[in-house]
Amino acid sequence: MKVLEAGYEILTPISDTGIEELQHIERIGRVCYKSEDKITDDGESAKQFVRMLIANGHEAMIEHSTLSVLFTVDRGVSHEMVRHRLASFAQESTRYVNYSKEKFGNEISVIDIKNGIDDDGRMKKMDAEYIEKVYLEWLDAMKDAERHYMKMIELGATSQMARSVLPNATKTNIIITANYREWRAFFKLRTAPSAHPQIREVTIPLLAELQKRIPVVFDDITADAG
Ligand SMILES: Cc1cc2nc3c(=O)[nH]c(=O)nc-3n(C[C@H](O)[C@H](O)[C@H](O)COP(=O)(O)OP(=O)(O)OC[C@H]3O[C@@H](n4cnc5c(N)ncnc54)[C@H](O)[C@@H]3O)c2cc1C
Repeated sequence: MKVLEAGYEILTPISDTGIEELQHIERIGRVCYKSEDKITDDGESAKQFVRMLIANGHEAMIEHSTLSVLFTVDRGVSHEMVRHRLASFAQESTRYVNYSKEKFGNEISVIDIKNGIDDDGRMKKMDAEYIEKVYLEWLDAMKDAERHYMKMIELGATSQMARSVLPNATKTNIIITANYREWRAFFKLRTAPSAHPQIREVTIPLLAELQKRIPVVFDDITADAG
């Protein structure tokens, strides 16, 4: 059994300064106001324009954008992700993938709960000794689940039947494609302190990276809001 860290990879190319992404939205949005003459090559007009759109709640204009991100998370977190109805998804299938195969090292992979525990309001107040006990219990449960899964396959079960014993912690790859408006809604809900610690583990660093690489669009969203 592999115990992996959660993570993400941005799949959509983003221009060096992120200005091209804003200029695209500006070109489209200025049609509404017939203010195309205000467009400047340095991107300053684009920043100002997109800032105005967001401040005024004219977010339909920022739907003219797209961003795909590949996440490595557990299936509990991916289940939360797929609730975002305006996004599009592609996810590793536990029906078709057979983890007993050589290709997967004849083992299942699970996402470590350690970082989640560190961000869990109640658990982080517990003594280290008890946290360790909880963690070892979790590890045992993962090994048991793997043993049952492999045994079912050995007895002739298909992967789509054996998956029934896979834990929520099973590692999955899921790609989310959405426009910036939907990503904004996603980040507001999924970086907030009320969000699950293990979804925050990937959404907070992703938001920080996007804030660095694409000006303005995500600047007003903070992980401690909500
Ligand atoms: C802290 C937290 C706890 C949660 N707990 C639970 C739980 O216990 N049980 C549970 O079932 N779910 C739970 N959820 C999931 C939650 O109910 C939503 O399904 C999920 O957050 C997606 O939110 P959304 O519908 O706003 O997003 P999206 O589906 O991404 O939609 C984005 C926005 O589009 C608009 N929109 C989308 N569809 C419609 C529509 N049909 N009509 C009108 N406007 C629409 C809304 O403005 C919406 O905010 C929880 C979510 C969070 C963040």
